[in-house]
Amino acid sequence: MSSKGRIKVGIVGYGTIGKRVADAVALQDDMELVGVTANSYNHRIIAAQRKGYALYAVGDAAPLQAAGMEIAGTMDDLLAKVDIVIDATPSPLGAQNLVKYRKAGVKAILQGGEDADAAECSFNAQANYADAVGKSYVRVVSCNTTALSRVLGALSSRAKIGHVSATIMRRAMDPGEKGKTVMNAIEPSFSFPSHHGPDVKTVLPDIDIFSVAFKVPTTLMHVHSLEIELKGPLTTEQARDALREAPRIHLLPPKAGLDTTAQIMELGKDLGQPRGDFMEVAAWEKGVQVEGGKLHVIMAVHQESIVVPENIDAVRAMMGDKDAAASMRKTDGTLGIGKRAHKGK
Ligand code: NAD
Repeated sequence: MSSKGRIKVGIVGYGTIGKRVADAVALQDDMELVGVTANSYNHRIIAAQRKGYALYAVGDAAPLQAAGMEIAGTMDDLLAKVDIVIDATPSPLGAQNLVKYRKAGVKAILQGGEDADAAECSFNAQANYADAVGKSYVRVVSCNTTALSRVLGALSSRAKIGHVSATIMRRAMDPGEKGKTVMNAIEPSFSFPSHHGPDVKTVLPDIDIFSVAFKVPTTLMHVHSLEIELKGPLTTEQARDALREAPRIHLLPPKAGLDTTAQIMELGKDLGQPRGDFMEVAAWEKGVQVEGGKLHVIMAVHQESIVVPENIDAVRAMMGDKDAAASMRKTDGTLGIGKRAHKGK
């Protein structure tokens, strides 16, 4: 930690996740955003410079400088200045970069695209914050796994749950990407289970879960349909209350005209979330129903932003802060995550 007591943070990989996490770090009064890496000249780097973020070149700085970018140094220079790196490069670059982080003596957070065994532990703030306290290398689980961990963690702390069957409809690509999607088609994954179920067990080892996944032609959000075996008493209302009261889960009021993922993203904009993001799990209240001894949950996941608060909490845990609840409250307060729309109908 720096002499002034603020945690010095560097971002390596300034894309969909990295640019959001950089903005979130800049909002924390116990952290200092030292800089972000620039890998190529693009619109994200232009915006980073306009925000005043120091840019550190990966590889040759000349093309960036020729395009008018002010470069503060190399990636190695950035590593020399920070306590911890948040690596949000495309997998498997994060795991490959660990050699550099070890050599520089900095801690590092990897993202969910990396294999679980690349880091000392996988992380979800609600599920296993304590496991990351003091660790050097931690992996924040993926967007879908984060959503599943928040919801299954909240439900299993209220009732005894058995087998979970999860059907995941995955957005084909992020809104700002091009050329990577399925068009007018649905692509099943033939991995049984899909990687999501086993990934949940890296943070909630006692959950018995099997998942299947389909890629669908949309960019906005993922949608999950869960069927959860109940091994003890739980009513529909109790299940809804468990989700309503849990942090980072937004129970969508049934009569508010929030029937589609597009309407949920519009709510994110109306709530003034950065970039119109939606960092909470968006669970439809009317999609939470107990029927024949099974609990059904239908929920949407904003893949671009849901892991942002988790990265911030992982920084605090790894730098030795043991108070999970206080970290999550602080993070949520700075990011505008709350329960503002929960009480409506
Ligand atoms: P992205 O492609 O949007 O961004 C990656 C960034 O890394 C780009 O800006 C690219 O220029 C930069 N980069 C490429 N090579 C680099 C290098 N050698 N050094 C430094 N920077 C380099 O990727 P993303 O969607 O943000 O995903 C990053 C990680 O986050 C992956 O592990 C992914 O699985 C995970 N993740 C993604 C999402 C999502 O929906 N996009 C959600 C949760 C987790």
